[in-house]
Amino acid sequence: MITKKWTEIRKAAADGSKLLFPLGVIEEHGPHLPLGSDIFWSQKMCELVREELKKNGEDALIVPGYYWGINYCTSAFPGSFTLKKETMKQVLFEIFENIRNFGFKEAYCFNYHGDAHHIDTIVEAIQKANSELGLNVKLVLESMDLQLYGWQGDEDFLLVSEPNYPIKWFEEQEPSERGLLDIHGGAFETAVLNYFYPEYVDLELAKALESSSLTKEGLQKWLEGGEATKEVVPLGYAGNPSGYGMVGKHIKEMIALQVADITKRIRG
Ligand SMILES: [Zn+2]
Repeated sequence: MITKKWTEIRKAAADGSKLLFPLGVIEEHGPHLPLGSDIFWSQKMCELVREELKKNGEDALIVPGYYWGINYCTSAFPGSFTLKKETMKQVLFEIFENIRNFGFKEAYCFNYHGDAHHIDTIVEAIQKANSELGLNVKLVLESMDLQLYGWQGDEDFLLVSEPNYPIKWFEEQEPSERGLLDIHGGAFETAVLNYFYPEYVDLELAKALESSSLTKEGLQKWLEGGEATKEVVPLGYAGNPSGYGMVGKHIKEMIALQVADITKRIRG
């Protein structure tokens, strides 16, 4: 959007163009990944979905990224910006208000930051925008993440994506990692960032980092936030960065499946 002229925005709105909205946070991601990991990820997904829509003859616009989100767990680390819930909700709502005033009706929010406070806030802002502004805004979410937030999948504020991942991908795992949680700056996120933006990843350091994947008890500590989180993950990552290679084998294919599925559902 920000490379366009205002006249192009007017035309896009008149043409009924859909909007893709990258959301995220600025957050520490361990010593090997950049603060912007989550918003970089969202931005890239929006770009890939826009390209795919374009191949199908649809021109979508990407809303300037919103990254002043909520970092409850990692807020004690320098570089983790975090806003109050009401601040974030108000800003998001006003952005939706602007979008409505420009003449747009439909927007899809992409978010790869799992903090429940952050997700809740996004959803509350979306629901308020849909009911008070008559917009059709949805949060893009994978079906396997529904249970994390207690949703069924038929909520009108969700666009549920269900890429057909080969079962064997889920069976491949380093034995030492079995039963542990790789949730932040670990193998998966290092692999994704290394695929999208290798120039921002310190891969040599990632290879040398020891696993800090979480047990169930560790997860509880992580969720406490502040200094408690630091006790369980002193370097800021909760996962196994050096395992990025095994996960990374399928990243290209995984992202392609996601992009194809999301695009299909946006096209309706
Ligand atoms: Zn992240």
